[in-house]
Amino acid sequence: MDPDKSGESVIDEPIANSASEPQKTLTQVTRREWFKRAVGGCAGLALSGLVDVAAVQAHTQELKLSNVSEFTTSCNFCSCGCGMVASVRDGKLISMEGDFDHIVNRGSLCVKGISMFATHSSPNRLTTPRYRAPGSGHWEDISWDDAIARVAQKIRKTRDATWIATERVGDKEVPVNRTDAIGFLGGAQNTNEECYLFQKAARLLGLAYVEHQARL
Ligand code: SF4
Repeated sequence: MDPDKSGESVIDEPIANSASEPQKTLTQVTRREWFKRAVGGCAGLALSGLVDVAAVQAHTQELKLSNVSEFTTSCNFCSCGCGMVASVRDGKLISMEGDFDHIVNRGSLCVKGISMFATHSSPNRLTTPRYRAPGSGHWEDISWDDAIARVAQKIRKTRDATWIATERVGDKEVPVNRTDAIGFLGGAQNTNEECYLFQKAARLLGLAYVEHQARL
């Protein structure tokens, strides 16, 4: 199937038509038309008593939606910020799809966004921080508390060792209170509110190099 310019799919095989219709191939049948024909066929079966439509609908809904909670989120692969709907059952993410109500993408996703669920469920995905000791040839899993403590200690040590309290400007020594040894990099998945807080934290630490990389 290929999307035509109007966004509706077409199928390139001949199909049977009623006698009153001119000969048509599926190349000319839009996806909407295809659904109409399928629904018409089901209605025929229902009218002839072969299908209990209400029961089938209820069962399908139950299977698909039972115990599922939906949460809105945004794709973290680039700064376009496409909206997504994440479905969770029993605490586990079971699907991710484009959010039709989102003003940015109206339900569509690019190939990277579509692959987000596969990335989430990949066995190669790292789910814990890792540490490689100086001189060591291997990485070891560590806890988040351990990782945060290590990062905090390194920031403190580097900041103290490289602190610039004042700088000479002309004939005056003026306070600058900064370190040039640490940089801060934001990413595409950060919201405006998170970026605001990161900026505050970075400036409070005395960092001058604060940047953003919208594709990470
Ligand atoms: S990577 Fe694709 S789906 Fe994700 S935000 Fe960017 S354009 Fe949207």
